[in-house]
Amino acid sequence: MARKKSGAVLCSSCRQIIGVNEKRCPHCGAIAPGLFGFAPALQRVFRERIDPVSLLVGASVVVYALTLLVDPRCIHTGIDLDFGSPSGEALRLFGMTGRFAMVEGRPWTLLTAIFLHGSLLHLGFNLMWVRSLAPPAVELFGKGRAVVIFILSGVGCFLASDLWSGAPTLGASGAIFGLMGALLAYGRKRGGEFGAQIRRDMIMWAGLMFFLGLAMPGVNNAAHVGGFITGLLLGRVLPARERKRETRSARILALVLLLGTLAAFLVSVATGLSGFVPGRCA
Ligand SMILES: [Zn+2]
Repeated sequence: MARKKSGAVLCSSCRQIIGVNEKRCPHCGAIAPGLFGFAPALQRVFRERIDPVSLLVGASVVVYALTLLVDPRCIHTGIDLDFGSPSGEALRLFGMTGRFAMVEGRPWTLLTAIFLHGSLLHLGFNLMWVRSLAPPAVELFGKGRAVVIFILSGVGCFLASDLWSGAPTLGASGAIFGLMGALLAYGRKRGGEFGAQIRRDMIMWAGLMFFLGLAMPGVNNAAHVGGFITGLLLGRVLPARERKRETRSARILALVLLLGTLAAFLVSVATGLSGFVPGRCA
């Protein structure tokens, strides 16, 4: 990121022209409106570089590939629902969560587990949902807020799961339930025919997915409920883009969560590597 040290920039909060070194924005009163010279970089990243949908999908695919690559002999190749499942050893290394992880003092797994998947079907199914729900969330809330909803709902879902069921768990479905909850909250606030339509769709999809989860074995229902409630609350708190343009705080928080997730993976692998035994296939 390039830092701008002199001249005029757009205020990171209200986007009116200010001097980059002004302490307070004369238009909106924001403190450090030039973000110490980083305001243009932040604006550029969110305008051009970050496509949240590709980013979330891409990260999940890359992480899935890595979990296969570190323990290739133990990939499940039987032609069944678990086809393409990475070894438990690999999933633990990259930060699967569960009560065991909390007991071992690995709280960062609340972040890493969002991007881990247990089989090719699990990955494909979840990414299909991300591809259909993240674009409306970006459109209606804004890029930064959509990322915040996705990641914080993922954290909320695993907190609920680790406290409630405690089972080892992973996957983006809690974050996906969060997107549904946030869109449902948006529909309620928006009102009108458009709002009612979104609300009906989200109630239908979340209901269907939840009951499918109850009917199928091995689905983490506590996580689904936790993710949905987190998303619902965030959707109520965060303003929609049509009412209030995305503020810099949402974008900074989104960047912090994304970089925090990257750091969580690095910490998870760095601290887990000494106990990692590939080829055990347990
Ligand atoms: Zn301003």
